[in-house]
Amino acid sequence: AVYKHFPIKQGIVFKKEIGRVHAVDGVDLEVRRGETLGIVGESGCGKSTLARCITGLHQVTAGRILFEGDDITRLGKAGLKAFRRDVQMIFQDPYGSLNPRRRVGSIIGDPFAVHSIAGGAERKRRVQELMELVGLNPEHYNRFPAEFSGGQRQRIGVARALALKPKLIVCDEPVSALDVSIQAQVINLLKDLQDELGLTYVFIAHDLSVVRYVSDRVAVMYLGKVGEAAEAETLYVRPRHPYTAALLSAASIADPDEAERAERIVLTGDVPSPIDPPSGCRFHPRCPKAADRCIREDPPLVPREGDPPDHVTACHFPVEPGERLAHKHAAIAQ
Ligand code: SF4
Ligand code: MG
Repeated sequence: AVYKHFPIKQGIVFKKEIGRVHAVDGVDLEVRRGETLGIVGESGCGKSTLARCITGLHQVTAGRILFEGDDITRLGKAGLKAFRRDVQMIFQDPYGSLNPRRRVGSIIGDPFAVHSIAGGAERKRRVQELMELVGLNPEHYNRFPAEFSGGQRQRIGVARALALKPKLIVCDEPVSALDVSIQAQVINLLKDLQDELGLTYVFIAHDLSVVRYVSDRVAVMYLGKVGEAAEAETLYVRPRHPYTAALLSAASIADPDEAERAERIVLTGDVPSPIDPPSGCRFHPRCPKAADRCIREDPPLVPREGDPPDHVTACHFPVEPGERLAHKHAAIAQ
């Protein structure tokens, strides 16, 4: 098939000190070859756990993750090793994810060592090729991470992720630890590499504008569940889930023109604990549209009336075009 499927069905569970926690539950997503799927949400919504599940770093206790037809949660040792070549990860922290005592040439060459590919001069040649590909000077092969700037260190992480020509790269907040002035450079590098190498990305971030810029499609997560997913422009222009609408209205504060036009939707209440999520729709304690039904019934993630089939929303009462939540509902504080 042309598509690479990543439907992740319900019940990815992990252990924390306090009992069992459903960090990710009810995520049903698909990543298509050559596209970028953005995943947004507040911290603690399960984005990073999801990333670790997709890359096989985190054990999935229930549900399936399909990669080119194989369920990776059922792969044996050999299958998992092959899968780990095809799927790589770029981490948030370009400082913490690089061993300070190792030379960058050896760090970037790690995947070759792990998979016993290319040794000696051949490995060095390949590593230097990778350095060039990501805009690093290949002559800096023997330097240590501390001799590079934050942006350059993230390039080292990108080079390492590219070493085995992966089919999918999961980027977990790849620029949020960088200065704003450097963020665009790294994002543009990722986009250029995607065009050049035909890469597929899952791009996880809390910054809505970054996600909009890089993503073909976007999924919004709340307390371990996907609340809404759609083609990027659709989601940003015509959000249907009240949580998406609230996130977007909060983000538009940065743009004074938009802020004037749009009423800000301010969510009331704290983010509930994922250990004991609210009944029914998990968003109901903070939702300006919540009704009795929302407390009882968990809304399925499905296309809502008038929406295209790939625009799915988990909400009993989706936001209508032009609906102004801030005016209609008393639960919103200013
Ligand atoms: Fe709000 Fe109800 Fe929709 Fe949940 S289902 S987002 S509580 S309106
Ligand atoms: Mg793209």
